[in-house]
Amino acid sequence: MAEKKEDIKDLSLDELKSRIRSLNEPPYRAEQVFEWIYKKGARSFGSMTDLPAKLRDYFTNKFFITGPEIIKKQVSRSDGTRKYLFKLNDGETVEGVLIPAKDRQTICLSSQAGCAFGCYFCASGLLGFKRDLRCGEILDQALAIQDDIGEAKAPAGSKGPAGSKRITNVVMMGTGEPLTNYDNVIKAIGIMNSPQGLGIGARKITVSTAGYIPGMKRYMQEKGQFELSVSLHAADDIKRSRLMPINKKYPLSELIAVCREYTKEKGRIITFEYILIKDVNSSPTDAQNLAKLLKGLNCKVNLIPFNAVPDFKFAPPSNKDVENFQEILEKAGISSTIRSQRGADIDAACGQLRLREAEEEKC
Ligand code: SAH
Repeated sequence: MAEKKEDIKDLSLDELKSRIRSLNEPPYRAEQVFEWIYKKGARSFGSMTDLPAKLRDYFTNKFFITGPEIIKKQVSRSDGTRKYLFKLNDGETVEGVLIPAKDRQTICLSSQAGCAFGCYFCASGLLGFKRDLRCGEILDQALAIQDDIGEAKAPAGSKGPAGSKRITNVVMMGTGEPLTNYDNVIKAIGIMNSPQGLGIGARKITVSTAGYIPGMKRYMQEKGQFELSVSLHAADDIKRSRLMPINKKYPLSELIAVCREYTKEKGRIITFEYILIKDVNSSPTDAQNLAKLLKGLNCKVNLIPFNAVPDFKFAPPSNKDVENFQEILEKAGISSTIRSQRGADIDAACGQLRLREAEEEKC
């Protein structure tokens, strides 16, 4: 029986180098392969013309490059946000999003198929947890989006076809809890960061967590200057446990203590994500509690008016309430931004596209 092929994108540059060394080939061949895949958009080893034929054959027999199929793509008419639904080899689906802006192209990637955390406002958990994504499957989402926006296939050094763009920022804020799929996520962001990979600056790559403390402690020890975002969504344990079951296991006192330790250890700021939900967590008292909780912490708060999802009863507060909330934080010296709604016409809330697809399949 033919040996099962491996995904070449599951290997870090060092791992590929050691494979290549074991073939008595010089390790710089690994850099060539990386550049072909991540910079020049090669999708077959046969096209890697500066590799010896022997090595091309070896790779073709042992590995595959091609990624998942895009089974759905939605483009927002209002702001150009693009949402993709990918079908993986085993039939599982995951979402990736491109959020274009004048000076940057941000992509939002999934780390797992489904999610085990079951936050009550999030569509990702509604179908339960399926499995972790491999490193290569995380990278596939980035490569497919890069292909879709342009420059990857242009010769190195050229500007690429008119209108083509390169990914500048990555947020691990799609489906799943990245810090419970730790090794695959860290390897994937390492490859996105590496100059031979996608060459995206570490400070432009953000991992978002629901507050999984063991993962945060590990992440703190990473050498790279990757960013951390924590989904907070409430400033007291009763409310937070109601919105996010993980809070029962890792309550706010422990979570905030680890955040304080993180900012000291790394000398880096933390971004707190705070979804504002009408009549749930967006009152002036909630804002005051939040300001108290975060006092003295080197952080920024990203206020996100709730993105309506048909399966949930929650709604966003009025603009006035959002502004009041921000004002209270500002007066207390906590810096915050209000995230503008993107892609409202294309099921932009986390996990919504995947959910819609599953519902359609059931019909
Ligand atoms: N598990 C990680 C990574 C997922 S991030 C985490 O919780 O951080 C997904 C982000 O989108 C989180 O901040 C989540 O709280 C937010 N989100 C989910 N559903 C949303 C909705 N309906 N409206 C606005 N934001 C939502």
